[in-house]
Amino acid sequence: MTTDSETETTTGVLVVGSGIAGCATALAAAREGARVTLATKATEPEHASSWWAQGGIAVTRDDPESFKDDILAASDGTADPDAVDVLVENARTAVEDVLFETLGVSFDAAGEEYEYGREAAHSKRRILHVDASTGRHILGPFLSHLASIDAVTIRQDTAALELITHEGRVHGAHLESDGEVEPVFAGTTVLATGGVGALYPQSTNPDGATGDGITMAALAGADVQDMEYVQFHPTVCVESDPFLVSEAVRGEGALLRNGDSVRFMPDYHEDAELAPRDVVARAVARERERTGSVTLDVSPLAFAEMFPDLAGMCESRGIGWQSGIPVAPAEHFLCGGIAVDSEGRTSLDRLFAVGECSRTGVHGANRLASTSLLEGLVWGLRAGRAATGVDPEPIEAPDLLDRDPALPERFGAEKSVRLHRVMAEHVGLERTPEGLRQATAVLRRLKGEVDAYTRTRTSRDLYELRGKSVTALLIARAAADNPSSTGCHYLSEEPTAHAD
Ligand SMILES: Cc1cc2nc3c(=O)[nH]c(=O)nc-3n(C[C@H](O)[C@H](O)[C@H](O)COP(=O)(O)OP(=O)(O)OC[C@H]3O[C@@H](n4cnc5c(N)ncnc54)[C@H](O)[C@@H]3O)c2cc1C
Repeated sequence: MTTDSETETTTGVLVVGSGIAGCATALAAAREGARVTLATKATEPEHASSWWAQGGIAVTRDDPESFKDDILAASDGTADPDAVDVLVENARTAVEDVLFETLGVSFDAAGEEYEYGREAAHSKRRILHVDASTGRHILGPFLSHLASIDAVTIRQDTAALELITHEGRVHGAHLESDGEVEPVFAGTTVLATGGVGALYPQSTNPDGATGDGITMAALAGADVQDMEYVQFHPTVCVESDPFLVSEAVRGEGALLRNGDSVRFMPDYHEDAELAPRDVVARAVARERERTGSVTLDVSPLAFAEMFPDLAGMCESRGIGWQSGIPVAPAEHFLCGGIAVDSEGRTSLDRLFAVGECSRTGVHGANRLASTSLLEGLVWGLRAGRAATGVDPEPIEAPDLLDRDPALPERFGAEKSVRLHRVMAEHVGLERTPEGLRQATAVLRRLKGEVDAYTRTRTSRDLYELRGKSVTALLIARAAADNPSSTGCHYLSEEPTAHAD
């Protein structure tokens, strides 16, 4: 058990994760006068999806109603209108305060005017961007700014493994650093651990997107919601060293052509290439299967001038973009997650969640492009303010120290291959009730095998594997329990009467 001498590690607000959502939380909490510990397993800023964001950050201009309508339409009417109001009404202030004034991000502009971009399913130009590498131009300055604030301690290469809970209240987390595990007690704990890309063989996310925060919260008893809504991005260049080709490229006029060079999107949706993401992703997958390949034809635009970063990425991989960029769908974003209110509070006392690991209701069954950075920023600021003013209460926490970290050889690799196979086959872009039933059974077994080791071992690899197996099971179960195709959850067969 934890002794008094070991409980010296306390903080006002413990933020877990250093993407845009964790950074915004830390900033807001520090501004309120809290002592903040920002723990991140990242060793480099690029270990967060926020770094890789391309198209940009959507922001309300003089169009709150149409922005709201676009979000609701992209979600198939399933987004929570109150949550969307919070996003739309706070967008401008959050962007001006943090991105313009505090961080001084140099968004692309022509003279005095910002160059607002347009992406699929947006009815207006409202996306602030820096070329097609917006994320790094936000996250780099954000981390530097936080490092200059005395009240904020950043602990890199430090993974949260478990929440410390007592009678439904969260008191901090066990943090692992350099193989050592210690409890850190916090007045409030804020999970900002990002997405779940590592569950799928092809994803746009960095490798560390293993669902840790969702797993810790769910295992502690927090509500999770909408887990079946996993978004696949339609245009990922998968030739070698995969990279995302931003929706902004289609927004500026690029066309999708199948293996017979035929433009196919008008046959799938009236908005053609600018249809919601889930529609385009399924169409690309089907046309690849039917005709062998799909390419993004960038000849209608001045590609190299408008998207020099992307042109450079093609060229460095030997892809001649002039004859079209080969694309396929890949896992991109989880719309659901830890259920939170308009200030990021979860169902557990003193636990908050922000960013991609949370479920605010803004995305419903399908996310509108370029609203994720904004959601992380807006909810991060709100949660950071709401999470302050609570003193840490060091309690007797179960000890995670002194356990044998060694795992059988190839244990992790074998489990990850099995998990990827079942997620790609049964819990991907198109699902069937029978496939989901099979996936749930396989994943339950796999989780049991991993759990058997977490009772006696504490290595970070093992906890990441646990994160993957728990979130995969949560996704498969939620999908199996939802008989209606909506947004990202698409059933290619209806459930039969005797499906249980
Ligand atoms: C290639 C790409 C392009 C994108 N383009 C856009 C775009 O143009 N516009 C847009 O709005 N959205 C875009 N998105 C989505 C958006 O970037 C993400 O949804 C958003 O940045 C998530 O922010 P976050 O802070 O929640 O998580 P992340 O930025 O992923 O940060 C999560 C952090 O948590 C840390 N972490 C995880 N587990 C633990 C643990 N157990 N202990 C400690 N630390 C942990 C990670 O190391 C990381 O630092 C894109 C995503 C990708 C991958």
